Amino acid sequence: MLRFFTNQHLIPGCTLELEPSAARHVQVLRLQPGDAIMLFNGLGNQAVDKLEYGDHAAVIHAMGRASVSVVVGSFVKAQQDTVRKVHIALGMPANDRMDWLVEKATELGVSSIAPLMTERSVLRLQGERLIKKLAHWRGIAIAASEQCGRSQVPLIHAPVNLTAYLKELHAVPCEAAHVRLLSSLKAGAPALVEIAAGHTAFTLLSGPEGGLTSAEELAALAAGFTSISLGSRTLRAETAPLAALAFLQLL
Ligand code: SAM
Repeated sequence: MLRFFTNQHLIPGCTLELEPSAARHVQVLRLQPGDAIMLFNGLGNQAVDKLEYGDHAAVIHAMGRASVSVVVGSFVKAQQDTVRKVHIALGMPANDRMDWLVEKATELGVSSIAPLMTERSVLRLQGERLIKKLAHWRGIAIAASEQCGRSQVPLIHAPVNLTAYLKELHAVPCEAAHVRLLSSLKAGAPALVEIAAGHTAFTLLSGPEGGLTSAEELAALAAGFTSISLGSRTLRAETAPLAALAFLQLL
C-alpha cells in the first residue's frame, strides 16, 4: 500500500488536504478518488493511553489541479519499529554523500542524526544555506520513511560544531542502558561487538573525510564516549556509521 507523510493530526473520520509534496506524489502516481492509501505523521496514535506508532488508513476523497483531499480511516499499529535506539553524530561528508547517508540510515532504523562541523570538515554550513540543507535532509528522511515502511521519521538535528555538541551532551548524564561510542581508527580500540552487548541505546560519533583530530577524540572521550573499532579497513565517512548502525540493529 502506498504511504504518504503529513504534518497534520490524523483523526479517523476527518477530511484533510495533503501538503503540496504529498499531493504532487499522489498526482504523479495517477491515483484517483476512492483509492486507498496509508498516512503517517511520525507522532504516533494520540488516541490511546500508551503512545503507539503506525499508519492510518485513508481514502482519496477529491483531487484538484494541485490539491488532494483524503478521508482519514482507522489506525494500524506498526510491526517493524526498532527495539534499539541508535543516534548517529557525524562529521558531515561533503557533496551528496550526506544525502546518501540520511537515506540509508533512515532505512536502517536510525533514531536521530546530528550533522557536525569538525576541524577537518569540508562542508561548513550557516545561515540560509544551513536552513535549506536541513530542510533537504529532512525531506530525504521523510521520503525514505515513506518508502521503507517506517512510522517514526528520524530526527535530523541542525548542524552544529563538534565542540558545542559535546558540551551539550556532557551536561546530560547517560542512562545505564545507553552507551556513547566513538568510531576510531586508533590502534587498540576494542571491536564494536565487544562493547555493544547489553545496551539498548547508542550514540555513535564518527569523523568526517579527514577524520577527527586527536584533540577532538580526547574531547569526545571526556564527554563519556568509549572508542570502538569497525575493523582494520578505513571506511569512508558515510560508510562507518552505516556499518555500525546495521550491526547494532541486528544484534
Ligand atoms: N584518514 C582519516 C583518519 O585517519 O582519521 C580517515 C577518516 S575515515 C574516512 C572517517 C571516519 O570514519 C573516521 O574518523 C572514523 O570515525 C570512522 N572510521 C572509518 N573506518 C573505521 C574503522 N575501521 N573503525 C572505526 N571507525 C572508522
